[in-house]
Amino acid sequence: MKIAIVRERFEGENRVAATPETVGKLIALGASVAVEKGAGLGSRILDKDYSEAGASIAASADAALKGADVVLTVRRPSAASLAGVAKGALVIGALDPYGNDKDVAALAKAGVTAVSMEFMPRITRAQVMDILSSQANLAGYQGVVEAAAEFDRALPMMMTAAGTVRPAKAFVMGAGVAGLQAIATAKRLGAVVSATDVRPAAKEQVESLGGKFIAVEDEEFKQAETAGGYAKQMSAEYQAKQAELTASHIAKQDIVITTALIPGRPAPRLITKAMVESMAPGSVIVDLAAERGGNVELTVPGKVIEHNGVKIIGYTNVQGRIPTTASQLYARNLLAFLTTLIDAKEKKLAINWDDELVKATVLTRDGKVVHPTFAAPAPAAEAKPAAVAKPAPKAPAKSVEAKAAPAKTGAASKAAPARKPAAKKAEVPAMADAPKKAAPGVEQSIPAAAEAPAPAKRAATKKAAAVIDAAAAAAPAKKPAAAKPAASKPAAAKKPAATKKPAAPKGAK
Ligand code: NAD
Repeated sequence: MKIAIVRERFEGENRVAATPETVGKLIALGASVAVEKGAGLGSRILDKDYSEAGASIAASADAALKGADVVLTVRRPSAASLAGVAKGALVIGALDPYGNDKDVAALAKAGVTAVSMEFMPRITRAQVMDILSSQANLAGYQGVVEAAAEFDRALPMMMTAAGTVRPAKAFVMGAGVAGLQAIATAKRLGAVVSATDVRPAAKEQVESLGGKFIAVEDEEFKQAETAGGYAKQMSAEYQAKQAELTASHIAKQDIVITTALIPGRPAPRLITKAMVESMAPGSVIVDLAAERGGNVELTVPGKVIEHNGVKIIGYTNVQGRIPTTASQLYARNLLAFLTTLIDAKEKKLAINWDDELVKATVLTRDGKVVHPTFAAPAPAAEAKPAAVAKPAPKAPAKSVEAKAAPAKTGAASKAAPARKPAAKKAEVPAMADAPKKAAPGVEQSIPAAAEAPAPAKRAATKKAAAVIDAAAAAAPAKKPAAAKPAASKPAAAKKPAATKKPAAPKGAK
């Protein structure tokens, strides 16, 4: 059983699908692992780290892939690049199939079994495999770090001999996995934090993290959460009331982090140009929904812009800006899933095609597209809900002075695949506004936060912590790659510049 890991070809992508830790575990399961030379460099993993873990280092992607039974990847590889893999090889990664039907069909034609990790049901057993949560958690953290870096002032209150510095005010819009981590991070940095969400369950979670909850809590709000734990599309009236409430609040904020997403739809527009103009110069907005169209009217995906002195950060692939940690968790998610597909005694793949995790995630098999969302010929509107369309790159407003994003993510502005593809949302059948086609086995896919009735305060505290720490808790860190001594790192490269990664276009070999 040969497992291959190749260098990511997607421009600006510094993550890698396996770490020395996971490679060691895969070898213990009876696999041989081939890693393409330089595959881990963007995440500070040297070839020698992989070889010390037992992998062989292949001189090229083709050599790594030749005869592979399993290919682990971050982004969807091109079908052409997989020409040498074994018949029926598993290709496991964040394959971002929505809107990419042709590429999915090409993978089917190539004879591989493509597995889309974004479709992993959100059930307890699969939490350790939930790439959306592990990566959103990091995006929430990194979003606050980016805001702090752009902010001209200190975040915490400081009482010094020279006088008192007031704490910064941070407002988080959308309190899902990314939002809760953003709240926790902003609190740790000493900001005064408030947050909003349309799901009533979010209120206690926000408060349990020390944030103030701001929302119009009317009857519609009380019904706003689906059985799957996701947000519903709110009525125009509710949105107007919410906008009125948040408008006055935003005007007083120093930092705003937006993370709001609605299943199967473009990101809701929460911050208008007028709201941006109401903020004091020097304020910072981070739009973590930039890849799905953005929560902020002025967001330019992949860029940091400034409007009336307010900076708006529209980076895409924010988790990819901390690639070492992102790879560490992502690789564990993949390892956890792959472990369920391997018979360690026989040292070979033993896939239970009826397993709900397999059924929910397999896109192609035996030359065909088998995922129900993509396989059946259906009217375009049904197969591809509105949100699935990638947001068109937006020109900055006239008054906005666009500034190129730092080199390491500048490339991400090229309509990167959505961090949270609509596919995930389509898996929640209970949603009133969800696309009609749900993945098999998702009926049980109830997010933990929605499983229990309104919890007591202490339970909420635990739950909020559990949501933001789910990925880490599920995969205990024994030997994280990031903990390697600095001496073992390439001396000159503290942060890999974009130049470190080849600028090959998406899908290029
Ligand atoms: P998401 O990425 O779909 O959306 C982010 C947040 O934006 C959500 O909290 C949503 O309610 C909010 N939002 C949408 N429209 C908004 C608006 N107009 N104004 C303000 N906020 C708005 O959410 P997610 O991070 O995937 O989490 C969704 C739910 O799933 C949460 O309850 C989370 O705790 C739960 N969850 C469960 C598991 C599990 O394995 N059981 C794993 C991860 C998340």
